[in-house]
Amino acid sequence: MTRVNVSLAIVLVICTSLIIGQSRGEKKPAASKPTSKKFRLERLRGKVVFLAEALKRKYGIRSVSEASKRVLALEAKDGKLHPLVEDFRGRAFRLDKRLRTMDAELLVRRYKGSPTLQVIGVYTLEKKGKFELDYWCDICAIALYELKPCDCCQGAIRLRKRKR
Ligand SMILES: [Zn+2]
Repeated sequence: MTRVNVSLAIVLVICTSLIIGQSRGEKKPAASKPTSKKFRLERLRGKVVFLAEALKRKYGIRSVSEASKRVLALEAKDGKLHPLVEDFRGRAFRLDKRLRTMDAELLVRRYKGSPTLQVIGVYTLEKKGKFELDYWCDICAIALYELKPCDCCQGAIRLRKRKR
């Protein structure tokens, strides 16, 4: 094997174990997966904003400066504000400004008794239609859910849009 082939093989092995690890990681919590009684799925349209900015703009409420970018929220088309859980999918909106300027449709879980919504799908609404968004590493051919160096090769990833 040439040197390039060897390093490519190593990358592939690491990626494969990473993917297997990920799917294993996802299977484990499935046992304690919240039942449909704990949450319901909703699709909401609007723009993702920082809650403090929206509160100031809509109601004149001034948050303290250190809280200005603490909480993300969906500002729905009807004007209602829905705070978002900042897990790795929610954090995508903090890390990539493009996601905060687009017309969005979010597939979310609304948990009984909680005001925060958990994002499980992100879509952008454009003239050409609806596109599902995630990030993609062309080298490792793996999807990621937030903008960062690839988990596997540490290279650059790109925002991926798929027609839905
Ligand atoms: Zn990669």
